[in-house]
Amino acid sequence: MSIDVEDWFQVENLKAVIARDTWDERELRVERNTDRMLELMRERGVKCTCFILGWVADKRPGLIKRIAAEGHEIACHGYGHGLVYSLTREQFAQDLARATGLIRDLTGAKVRGYRAPSFSITDWAIDVLREQGYEYDSSAFPTVAHDRYGKLEGMRAGVPIVEIRPGFHEVCISCVQLGSKGVPWGGGGYFRLFPWPLFRWGVRRILGSGTPYVFYIHPWEIDAGQPRVGGLKRSHAFRHYVNLGRCESRWAALLDAFRWSPMIDLLDDWKRSRPAGD
Ligand SMILES: [Zn+2]
Repeated sequence: MSIDVEDWFQVENLKAVIARDTWDERELRVERNTDRMLELMRERGVKCTCFILGWVADKRPGLIKRIAAEGHEIACHGYGHGLVYSLTREQFAQDLARATGLIRDLTGAKVRGYRAPSFSITDWAIDVLREQGYEYDSSAFPTVAHDRYGKLEGMRAGVPIVEIRPGFHEVCISCVQLGSKGVPWGGGGYFRLFPWPLFRWGVRRILGSGTPYVFYIHPWEIDAGQPRVGGLKRSHAFRHYVNLGRCESRWAALLDAFRWSPMIDLLDDWKRSRPAGD
């Protein structure tokens, strides 16, 4: 289980109408929404991985400390949410170092995992992650094409965790195989769009094939009261707003329906169960 801890105005679908330099004027809702998610997990004894946006850690350091104190894994989502493949290597290295330092100082623990904004991972970024001490990335959907998802060398269709560099793993977001197509089944608009019995069927199918299931969600997805912005492309408005009102109860049902762990526990178990280099 993973949560990308960022606020409603920081998502790619709203970028065309919400300029980066207006973030400071926006209503911060991430703390309240994340606290609600922590409560839902606490009630169920679920531990997850929170990929923290550095900008949020800057504004709400107490929230990051609370997440860590509850035993969730603290991982990194970069600082400014720029798409990785739109940055230079140097810009990415600076953005990552800023976020990593902030998060590590708040928790006192090594940050081992990274997720790229809007899954925009690319090969040279893996080398930067390794240079800065990271052990895994979780940004790839190995079997699907999407207008802005990144791509990585060394991925294999249907293999959920891949050692893409010595000692460094990619932990893929889950897809369900339907015929020759891999359909993203790890969260986002898909989770809110499909009927719940269908979504649950897909998760069971993935688990039934003997592979782990990786899910992601954002705090703004359980916030039907978030400010609505006009002027969006219809496809972007649909992806962002579809079924927000029923997302919290559905996520609670998902938490109840399966056993969950932080990403790092999944990875450590995976490594233990396989000889090095396999
Ligand atoms: Zn994000």
